[in-house]
Amino acid sequence: MPNRRDLLAGAVAGLTLASLPALAQEKLAVVASFSILGDFVQRIGGARVAVTTLVGPDGDAHVYSPTAADAKAMAAAKLVVVNGLNFEGWMTRLVKSSAAKAPVVAAAAKVTPLKEAGGHNHGHSHGHSHAGADPHAWQDAGNAKLYVAAIRDALVAADPAGKADYEANADAYLTELSALDADLRAAIQRIPADRRKAITSHDAFAYFEKAYGLDFVSPQGVSTEAEASAKDVARIIRQMKAQKIPAVFLENITNPRLIEQIARETGARVGGRLYSDALSGPTGPAGTYIAMMKHNISQIEKALGAGPA
Ligand code: ZN
Repeated sequence: MPNRRDLLAGAVAGLTLASLPALAQEKLAVVASFSILGDFVQRIGGARVAVTTLVGPDGDAHVYSPTAADAKAMAAAKLVVVNGLNFEGWMTRLVKSSAAKAPVVAAAAKVTPLKEAGGHNHGHSHGHSHAGADPHAWQDAGNAKLYVAAIRDALVAADPAGKADYEANADAYLTELSALDADLRAAIQRIPADRRKAITSHDAFAYFEKAYGLDFVSPQGVSTEAEASAKDVARIIRQMKAQKIPAVFLENITNPRLIEQIARETGARVGGRLYSDALSGPTGPAGTYIAMMKHNISQIEKALGAGPA
């Protein structure tokens, strides 16, 4: 004969099982186009959201082919968060093909956009799909704060009952981003002024350059769609020698061959790997946006800071 405690335990277990699906359904389904936005949405949404990230760790969101699972996530979403500034060229078709009804919010909507190429890619043609805007606004932590505000407002609009949570999470995160911004500025100031220049394969750091004062030169344009021409590479190598650019950096989303070739032909050192357009996996060095920016600045400072040994 079951005793009272067993009966009670059974009742509690039954209750928990019955209420689980209901709790899961209460989470706001949000789709983020790429990993950095996925991190932002998770930080601000906390326990109230279930985030699906389309372009995952180390993925290249410039060139992406959505999957059937992506379309399914889009159809179920209550909110879709994209970068905007023509970063996700494949999104318009995905919205149509998935018959997604959720609002699509551009996190970069409040950012002052930079023109693509920033004057570095003379003679390089990028095609017309980018409409002249450089999409990599997240590389400035000040802009990341604008992203966070936009995502917070979109979450509140999609789920008004969570307003207090979203605002509290966003406030805490904005404080961390302000501290990050100050750390980045301080780190750049520790690098001798004549060594604040470097090479990356694609032009992902113009916002970083403008905010923090480090000159990045790239053989490839703001998108990874077009490959660098032999002429572009030759120009970079000349520029590197003339300006005594101390280091080249690999990127997590691009093929290392181009940068390795430039290093070989100039004798420049490879200063490590920068995370430009995607986070690393959760156990890697750039599993969150803040970890990514800290990793990048530590690589930059290590390669440029000390001067020739
Ligand atoms: Zn990019």
